[in-house]
Amino acid sequence: MKRIAILGSTGSIGTQALEVIDKLNCEIKVIALAAGNNIKLVSEQIEKYKPQMVSVKNEEDANLLRKKYSGTDVFYGDEGLLEIAQSDNIDILLVAVTGKAGLKPTIQAINNKKDIALANKETLVMAGDIIMRLAKEKNVNILPVDSEHSAIFQCLKNRNEAKHLIITSSGGPFRNSTIQEMDNADLNKVLAHPRWNMGRKITVDSATLMNKGLEVIEAHHLFDFDYDDIKVVVHPQSYVHSAVEYNDGSIIAQIGIPSMHIPIQYALTYPKRMAGIETESFDFVRAAKLEFYEPDTEKFPSLKLAFDVGRKGATFPVCMNAANEEAVFAFLSGKIKFTDIYKITKNILDGYIPVENPAIEDILCEDEKIREKTKELVNEYCGGL
Ligand code: NDP
Repeated sequence: MKRIAILGSTGSIGTQALEVIDKLNCEIKVIALAAGNNIKLVSEQIEKYKPQMVSVKNEEDANLLRKKYSGTDVFYGDEGLLEIAQSDNIDILLVAVTGKAGLKPTIQAINNKKDIALANKETLVMAGDIIMRLAKEKNVNILPVDSEHSAIFQCLKNRNEAKHLIITSSGGPFRNSTIQEMDNADLNKVLAHPRWNMGRKITVDSATLMNKGLEVIEAHHLFDFDYDDIKVVVHPQSYVHSAVEYNDGSIIAQIGIPSMHIPIQYALTYPKRMAGIETESFDFVRAAKLEFYEPDTEKFPSLKLAFDVGRKGATFPVCMNAANEEAVFAFLSGKIKFTDIYKITKNILDGYIPVENPAIEDILCEDEKIREKTKELVNEYCGGL
């Protein structure tokens, strides 16, 4: 039996992970849960899973939970996430919080020699070199949860014989839209992802294709491939989750119906494959048509931006990630237009002076600075609207 802590248990990945665990017949025991503000849902989860430890975002909510659940140790804030990550009572940490909240707990758990099931791509985008070096040093598995990276992880058996990674993208809700339609897109249209039901931030990133860009940087770190050897291909059906091309021309792809349950479960049961949650089988005959297209980087410039930023290295990815995230929040709160997300991110990157070979403190400091700068720029945009 594996003992798990889930950071982000009330989110899209977190709740699906608990569904997976429910079907695994006691293979996995929930030791700790961490949520943000959704106290109603985390209370239900405490009652069902009876974890030893829980963390929430703020102190007031933690106090409420302490009174209600005296048998559970309740923590809060960033320290709460670290408290869980450093527990000796866990075997694996599922990092499914959004944004930079995942970074320090991931480092803490690796230092404590715990395997990481990583959904939070921002962690590798911000500090991929440091995380992968540390994981190697501590002999810790970084098990990808993102469906594309899970696919590559399953297809990549010998790094030295592999030539290219092929990362697929559904193309998002604007695949067939004009730039003008994107310019006028409202929140509902942006959040209507054709294939995946995910949290709001990643759904917006999927509409700009920044999500694919973040995934390219994530893949570069996870699998040690140069950016020139990573290709993105638009595949609207989302059946081919990604592939690896080998030196002899063979391509091994991972195929299945689009369901996050499968990559989540593989990360949690690795190296075993188990019958768990029931998913519909992929039917080759019914699927009939698999389409593949070149991504349109004029319409979706964020994808090219991410490749450029990844190649430049240093703290450029930190800058792009922070500026993009703040711009996405501004869009979600109605302050800027959908197409302003890229413009703001690019504007911040254009004037950016990076830190070479950054330590974690430099990364967090840069992240903070960029967020402030982006908020100022967003306010200028709001004034102009
Ligand atoms: P959601 O927005 O659905 O969930 C985020 C979770 O993190 C919630 O439980 C939220 O709590 C919690 N949270 C956010 N900030 C904090 C914080 N500071 N402290 C503690 N908890 C916090 O996001 P997703 O599940 O969609 O995505 C999570 C991560 O996984 C992202 O990095 C995303 O890129 C990645 N990912 C997601 C995929 C998906 O299909 N959803 C696919 C691949 C990767 P609360 O709701 O209680 O406030």
